[in-house]
Amino acid sequence: MITTVLIIQSIETMPNIKIYNSISRKKEDFLPLDPQNVRMYVCGPTVYDRAHLGNARPVVVFDTLFRLLIEEYGEDSVTYVRNFTDIDDKINLRAKSLGIKISEITDQTIDWFMEDMGHLNSLVPSVMPRATQFVDKMIQMIEGLIKTKNAYFNEGHVLFRVRSYEHYGSLSGRSLDDMIAGARVEVAPFKEDPLDFVLWKPSTDDLPGWESPWGRGRPGWHIECSAMAKELLGGSFDIHCGGSDLKFPHHENEIAQSNCAHPNESFATYWMHNEMLKVNGKKMSKSLSNFYTVNDLLQCNISGEVIRFILLNTHYRKPLDWTENRVNDAKNILKKWRSQTLNVNPGVVDRRVIEALSDDLNTVAAISVLHKIFNQRDYSTLLASARFIGLLAETSINEEENEFDRKILDKVLVILSDKRLTALEEKNYEDVDIYKSRIIKTGIDVQISKDTIKLVPNSSFDRVALRGLVDE
Ligand SMILES: [Zn+2]
Repeated sequence: MITTVLIIQSIETMPNIKIYNSISRKKEDFLPLDPQNVRMYVCGPTVYDRAHLGNARPVVVFDTLFRLLIEEYGEDSVTYVRNFTDIDDKINLRAKSLGIKISEITDQTIDWFMEDMGHLNSLVPSVMPRATQFVDKMIQMIEGLIKTKNAYFNEGHVLFRVRSYEHYGSLSGRSLDDMIAGARVEVAPFKEDPLDFVLWKPSTDDLPGWESPWGRGRPGWHIECSAMAKELLGGSFDIHCGGSDLKFPHHENEIAQSNCAHPNESFATYWMHNEMLKVNGKKMSKSLSNFYTVNDLLQCNISGEVIRFILLNTHYRKPLDWTENRVNDAKNILKKWRSQTLNVNPGVVDRRVIEALSDDLNTVAAISVLHKIFNQRDYSTLLASARFIGLLAETSINEEENEFDRKILDKVLVILSDKRLTALEEKNYEDVDIYKSRIIKTGIDVQISKDTIKLVPNSSFDRVALRGLVDE
């Protein structure tokens, strides 16, 4: 009897999700530290300008991971932290050049970010800390690192002593010499070693600053994530995510300072990195005029859903090339899917979609399952499965329907105007009056003045009846 129970339990606890762990460079079974409390951290944006396509990729990719973890462990058992970096020299510079307050820039940018990412149908993370809310925790962590001689104070700066951490470079697979040769290491007179990085730096009066044991100053970038992850997820948590451009130095530095500050904790067990995004085969850059913000695309009639589809239709560990062909393909596919699911209730999510995502977030395989389901004409399964990865969402249906209705309203308006002109010429109002009363019956108020006609849907608006007004 006991044996049977044990067998059942071992099947139930078998790991279902596999993740490519950047630190071991292998696909591994995902075994959370505590299945009741699965924790993930994603490095969020530095908030000084509109989010571009490159910023959107990790948001959509790791939103899909979040959805999968919720499916597997339950909504109350997953915590997703994504920060806002609202202390940064780029923000300070931008505020100065625009002559406005720093908080105005950061507040506005955070609002934009939430709005744009909402259009991509990404779920709101469990916690979205701002760096400015955790400066005291950063100071505490830096004090600890100085005590253990992993950091030192020099000329107003506190620096992390990279050579004090023997595993430095293990994530990015670089040797210390390679890193010194890399252009991203800044040589400065207050550094013992060019590799050492800033934990704290002095602020002049015109810059944001906090009182600290080292005078008025502000934290360096890397310490932010270490301090916020520790506070919100604990010293040991499950998954740390971000773009592959963050591996070095940002994540390498996070690992070094967190492991030195909390030697009995493990920081993140799994590291996931999404590859970079190009536009027409080239790196996105303002000078090449191929730089797109999410908002630019939304304004150009490319819906958030189309953007999400394209971002998911390349595996996250492969470079993504954004092209006009892909935009058109995505538009056509989604239009086709939507046209068949308009009046369908969602069924059950196809197991194959969940299995594809469980294999290191294979969103490409998940989308190919959606194509198969479409071809099998199982539209209720299609709807449920597409919604599982954030596509064919209800809100977008409304947006699309509204747009469709607007176009029909325009047509009705043209027909009504023509009929009215003819009536005025022929002094025979019978035809126009009949058409007008048909419009009113569909729940639309017809407001005719001397030189304008307005059609305003009211509370008894019937969109199906409206469509009948142009089908003749
Ligand atoms: Zn970070």
